[in-house]
Amino acid sequence: GGRLDPRTRELTRERSVLGDAYRLFYRTPVHLVKGRGSHLWDADGVEYLDVYNNVASVGHCHPRVVEAMTRQASELNTHTRYLHENILHYAEDILSTMPDPLDRVMFQCTGSEANDLAVRVAQAYTGGEGVIVTHEAYHGNSALTSKLSPALGTAQDLGLTMRMIPTPDTYRVSVDGIRGSQCDAATFGAWMADRVRDAVADMNRHGIKFAALLADSIFSSDGVYPDPVGYLQPVIDVVHELGGVWIADEVQPGFTRTGDAFWGFERQGIVPDLVTSGKPMANGLPTSLMAARHEILEPFAGSIPYFNTFGGNPVCMAAAQAVLDVMRDEDTMGNSKKVGAVFKAAVEGLKDSHPCIGDVRGAGLYIGCEIVKPGTTDPDQASALDILETLRQNHVLTSVCGRYGNILKLRPPLVFSEDDVDWFMSAFSTTLDSLDK
Ligand code: PMP
Repeated sequence: GGRLDPRTRELTRERSVLGDAYRLFYRTPVHLVKGRGSHLWDADGVEYLDVYNNVASVGHCHPRVVEAMTRQASELNTHTRYLHENILHYAEDILSTMPDPLDRVMFQCTGSEANDLAVRVAQAYTGGEGVIVTHEAYHGNSALTSKLSPALGTAQDLGLTMRMIPTPDTYRVSVDGIRGSQCDAATFGAWMADRVRDAVADMNRHGIKFAALLADSIFSSDGVYPDPVGYLQPVIDVVHELGGVWIADEVQPGFTRTGDAFWGFERQGIVPDLVTSGKPMANGLPTSLMAARHEILEPFAGSIPYFNTFGGNPVCMAAAQAVLDVMRDEDTMGNSKKVGAVFKAAVEGLKDSHPCIGDVRGAGLYIGCEIVKPGTTDPDQASALDILETLRQNHVLTSVCGRYGNILKLRPPLVFSEDDVDWFMSAFSTTLDSLDK
C-alpha cells in the first residue's frame, strides 16, 4: 500500500468500518465519482472504460431513468399494500416480453431474494426439497441461496439437499471423444441431461425429493457457456420427466444482454417454469422479479402471504419502466448483437499473435476470454489477474470468472459502442504486449 496516494490510503483504511467480508477490486482500488453511458470517472477526473457493469444496463445515469425515478420520488413512494399504477403497468409490460405460460410476476429488491422465493415456490409446488445447480454457480447471499452458490468457495457450507452438476464447459468437456464446442446441441445437451439424472438419483438414494434445477442460461460465474444454442432443451425435458421445475436465473443473460433475444432462456429456445432477474432491471435501483406460471405459483401463493417492504415500490417501478422503454426505443438488443459481434471477432483476432488466449466465447455483449498456458487448455489465473491489473492501469475495468479464475469477463453496459470496442482493443493489445515481454 506504500505507493497509494494519501486519499486512496485513507479511504481504504476507513473501510474497516464495513468489516472484513467485503472485497475491493484491484491492488490499487478505484474511487469512482461519476458515470455516463459506458464511461466512468474517478475522483481525480480520470476517465475509465466500463467493460464490467451490467447493472447500469442502459448506461450509467441514463437521463430518462434519472428523470423517471426523481419525478416519482418527488410524488410518492410507498409499498404494495396500496394500489398503484406503476407496479401493474410494469407487471403487464414485463410479462408481455415472456412466453404466454409465464403469467404472474412478483417483485423484490435483489436477485438473491428472487431466487430465494423461486426455490420456495418450486418446493411448495413439487413437495420436494432438492435443488440442482452447476459447479461454479452463484445465485445469491441469503441463507437459502448461499447454499446454492458453490462459487462462494469451500468455506461456505452447501445445503444437504443441493446437488451440483458439472459446468457445461464446452472448452474442456468432451463427449464421446468430441470436444464440447464441436458437439451439436442434442449431443451436448444429452451429456448435461445425464448429469441431471445422476444428481436426482443421488438425491433419491438419500431420501430427498427433487424440486428444481436453478440455472443461469449463460452460465456466467461458471465461465460463460452460451453455445451450442439449443443444448438446454434436452436438459429441461429431463427435469420435467423427473418431476422438477426449471428456474431460469436471468440476472445475467436477461434484458437483451445476449443480443439474440430479450431473455437468455428464449435464446436457448426453452420455456422455463419460473424466471428470476434483478441486476439490469432498474439501472441501479434495487429491483428484482420472480415470474411464474400461475399453476406453479398457486400452492405457494394460495397458502403463504408474501410481503416485501421495498419490492415493487412506485419509484423502483418507475425506474424499471424507464429502463424497459429505453431498451425498446434505443434497441439495446440490436446494439448487443451488432457491437457484441464486432467485439468478439476483435478479441478472437488476437488469438494467433497471443497464444495465451485459448478460447473466446460469448453472446452479444457478454464475452468470456480464456487465458491459458500457451499451447494447452491449462488455465492461467496468474496471467489473467496480471491482465486485469494492467488493464486497470490503462483505465479499463473488467473482471474474471470461472472455476480457475482465468476467464476474462467482458460484460459492459448495453450501450457499449464500436468506439468503446476500439478503446478496449487498444488497451488489451498494449496489455498483452507488455506481459509478453
Ligand atoms: N444470480 C446470479 C446469476 C447473479 O449473478 C447474482 C449476482 N451476482 C445473483 C443471482 C444475486 O443477485 P443479488 O446480488 O442482487 O442478490
